[in-house]
Amino acid sequence: MRYLAENKKIIMVGIPGVGKTTLLSNIEEVIKNHQKTVSVISFGTLMFDVAKENGLSDRDGLRKLPVSEQQNLQKIAAEKIASKNSDVVIIDTHAFISSPEGYYPGLPEHVLKIISPTNFVSVSAKPEEIYNRRMKDDTRNRDKITLANIKKELDVQSGMISACAVLTGAPVKHVMNGEGKIDEAADKIIKAIGL
Ligand code: ATP
Ligand code: MG
Repeated sequence: MRYLAENKKIIMVGIPGVGKTTLLSNIEEVIKNHQKTVSVISFGTLMFDVAKENGLSDRDGLRKLPVSEQQNLQKIAAEKIASKNSDVVIIDTHAFISSPEGYYPGLPEHVLKIISPTNFVSVSAKPEEIYNRRMKDDTRNRDKITLANIKKELDVQSGMISACAVLTGAPVKHVMNGEGKIDEAADKIIKAIGL
C-alpha cells in the first residue's frame, strides 16, 4: 500500500463574531508561502450568490428562508465546493444556524457526503470577547445579542461538530481565538493539520 499526500479539505466552524474570517486570511497567507495552492471558501457567500439569482437581497435574510429552501441552497454550495481541487480547501462556515424553527445544522449528513472533509476546526473564544466583537461589527444585521445566548450557542456548536466527526470519521481540532492572539490561534491550526 502506498501513502500519497492527500489534498486537505478543512471545514472551519464557529459562531458569528468568533473570528473565523480573520483567522482564515492569516492562515491563507501562511499556506501560500509554503508553495501550496489554497482556496478559502465562505459557505454562506456561495449560498447567498445562488439565492441572489432567485431574488434574495439581504445576506442575513438567508437564515430566515424556510429550512427546505436553505437545504437546497446548501446542496448546491456543497457541490461547488466538491469541485475544487486546490492542495488545501478551507470552508468558512457554521456548525448550525439559528433559524425561526430552531437551531438547524450547517453540515447535515447529505452536505458532508458531498464535501467529504478531511478535518474539522471548531473555533471558540470567551463569551465576553465574542459579545464585544459582535457589538463592534456594524457591517452585519445581527439578531439580538446577549451573553446567555452566546454561551448557549457555544454549547450547541460543540454538540453539532462532534456529530459531524462521528458521521465522517474526520478529526476535530478545537481552538481558542483569544483576544489579540490571532497569530497564536492560526499557528495552532496549521501545526495540528500539518498545512
Ligand atoms: P461571521 O460568522 O459573522 O462571519 P467571523 O467568525 O468570521 O464572524 P470575524 O468577522 O473574523 O468573525 O471577526 C469578528 C470581529 O472580531 C472582527 O472585527 C475581527 O477583527 C475581530 N477579531 C477576530 N479575532 C480577534 C482576536 N483574536 N482578537 C481581537 N479581535 C478579533
Ligand atoms: Mg466571517
